[in-house]
Amino acid sequence: MHCPFCNAIDTKVIDSRLVGEGNQVRRRRECITCEERFTTFESAELLMPRLIKQNGSREPFNEDKLRSGFLKALEKRPVSMELVETSINHIKHALRATGEREVPSKLVGEKVMSELKKLDEVAYVRFASVYRSFKDLNEFRQEIDRISKEGGSSDPAGSS
Ligand SMILES: [Zn+2]
Repeated sequence: MHCPFCNAIDTKVIDSRLVGEGNQVRRRRECITCEERFTTFESAELLMPRLIKQNGSREPFNEDKLRSGFLKALEKRPVSMELVETSINHIKHALRATGEREVPSKLVGEKVMSELKKLDEVAYVRFASVYRSFKDLNEFRQEIDRISKEGGSSDPAGSS
């Protein structure tokens, strides 16, 4: 890192410590040429990407909106709030991990579906039916069939 005083290329780190609950590294540096000291802060850039909606408009990621989507799908289902929060964290983590500044909002929808699928199949179908806005009842039924097959249902009459 260049010295901000004389622009020399070589600076040495004389102290390094974690700050901000370990999310940041504070480094004391000293310029080898002019011996001035300065401080740098380093942190991983883990911003939540903005969402690109289908019509091309952008909106900030909204955790409350995500949570209410989950709760709506999980209404009266036997799933604890703790599991919901875990799912939300999975999604936030996955979004940050993309490293993108903007992602299609569709990506969030897909993540919600895969989390709901793990939590509760009824909730999954509820969400999927709204989200994918199934064109007709047939498509909806196919999805339910697909789920019940994956769920290991061994009903021999269920194969059509
Ligand atoms: Zn310098």
